[in-house]
Amino acid sequence: MKSLFKSAGILILAGAFVLSGCSGGGGSKNAAEKPDQEANFNPTGLPIVKEPVTLKMVSPKAALAPEYSEMEIFKRLEKDTNVKIQWENIPDTDYAEKKNLLVASGNLPDAFYAAGFSDYELVNYGKDGTIIPLEDLIDQYAPNLKALFERRPDIKSAITAPDGHIYGLPSWEENNLGTNPFFHVINKAWLDKLGLKMPETLDEYTEALVAFKTQDPNGNGKADEIPLSFMHMQWCMDIGGLFGAFGLPDNMEHRIVRDGKVIFTATQPEYKEALKYFHEKWYKQGLIDPESFTQDAAQYLAKGKTTDETLGSYIWWEVEEVVGTDRSKDYALLSPLKGPNGDQLIGRGNGGGPARGAFAITKVNRYPEITMRWIDQQYEPYMAAQIHWGPLDVVFEKDANGKLVNLPLPEGTSAGEFRQKVAPGAGGPGVIAIEDLGKVVDLEPRAQQRVKDLEKYYDPYMEKENYPSIFFNPEELDKINKIEPELLKYANTQRGKFIVDGGVDEHWDSYVKTLEKMGLNELMEIYQAGLDRYNENLKK
Ligand code: CA
Repeated sequence: MKSLFKSAGILILAGAFVLSGCSGGGGSKNAAEKPDQEANFNPTGLPIVKEPVTLKMVSPKAALAPEYSEMEIFKRLEKDTNVKIQWENIPDTDYAEKKNLLVASGNLPDAFYAAGFSDYELVNYGKDGTIIPLEDLIDQYAPNLKALFERRPDIKSAITAPDGHIYGLPSWEENNLGTNPFFHVINKAWLDKLGLKMPETLDEYTEALVAFKTQDPNGNGKADEIPLSFMHMQWCMDIGGLFGAFGLPDNMEHRIVRDGKVIFTATQPEYKEALKYFHEKWYKQGLIDPESFTQDAAQYLAKGKTTDETLGSYIWWEVEEVVGTDRSKDYALLSPLKGPNGDQLIGRGNGGGPARGAFAITKVNRYPEITMRWIDQQYEPYMAAQIHWGPLDVVFEKDANGKLVNLPLPEGTSAGEFRQKVAPGAGGPGVIAIEDLGKVVDLEPRAQQRVKDLEKYYDPYMEKENYPSIFFNPEELDKINKIEPELLKYANTQRGKFIVDGGVDEHWDSYVKTLEKMGLNELMEIYQAGLDRYNENLKK
């Protein structure tokens, strides 16, 4: 291990000295200390250093959290590693501004913890040398991160900057709960009452909606039934999933991936056919709640709780929240419906990868190896869970299988509040990967139910690929931000108009031309280039 330290380790250290000398920051360093440092450092095992070493770290903290020096989890880490952290905790509401000031003034800590660096910041601070590349340090001193990257190359790819360096470490509570946000719900009690079976095709579903509208299934003698309500182009409440019946599911970005190719859904023939169907068969026949295009969540949710049951079918994250726990027994989830050509598909939500700016080491750091070894402790799966949700014997205990299970909460506290006080939380370093759930630590019960529903109703019909969370360079981000908001706004307005007013065939060509004028092709080229780069990184 000594030889390893002498090769790349010393080179990195030497680089840091030169840089810190230039910066005039706190990193003045006597080169004669180097041999002592080497003797003090354990490249493997604990403690990390024989004699205590102090590192200065800046981190945001939640309102209810104590200073991190008072947090049990960090006291334990200090005891195990002999690395003392001098914390500068900034209230999370002020953090973004203060962090920018620190960087601008050159008054740098050794590392930023739970740093929340944006892609812009990682690339620009990496380029100007404010933060250092981490990949060689990871390779030599971070066995937990290396093991994570080996079992999950997608995580390594996601945090690798467009220039090939890793400037920030990941933070992720992976759970796959949002692969299909659109749970499609139907009033099963009404189907039974009207002698209809659970619809399996789009046309059977349409027949059920017609029956809901015309046959007074709530039995109050009034035509007050709402066959289908949703919230147009809103997260988890839109009909994007139902476009899958025409062969191409839609989503909030109108962007899906097949065989590594990025497809903009909203100019495709399948999308056009879906719009025609939704207008002709649904809107024109009064099956869609007209307020689906204007209502807010409060108005929408109220429709599930009217005195007489009025809601026939709806889309939401789960059944219960819309209609309440008691009434939810009348409702059932629908699997994707078979379309006119036999297509039966549901989309896979985009993004959902790790945050990549959770920890960064600055140029003034005299102990990058020690720092990397200290932070790597937090990528061991059990420790990652404790960094995110709270320590053993405080929040968790281990069950017979060694899995972390929740201890009862102290009286009068909520889980959210308690966790703020004992753990850095969701923005902290550490990755709890999907394969750790149920083995290292459990999902909460409601989340476990959702996983089961996804497996039963949606997974067999789900698109294989999604558009991952890509690390774009600043130039690409500038172009995306310039083109995309206006383009999506236009596409979404037209989508609503086509469903409500029809006229798809007459206006389609000019609609597509307008999108192209707004920069659609350039936008898709950027997304494709980003995806190609990501897929290349996967192979590395
Ligand atoms: Ca009625």
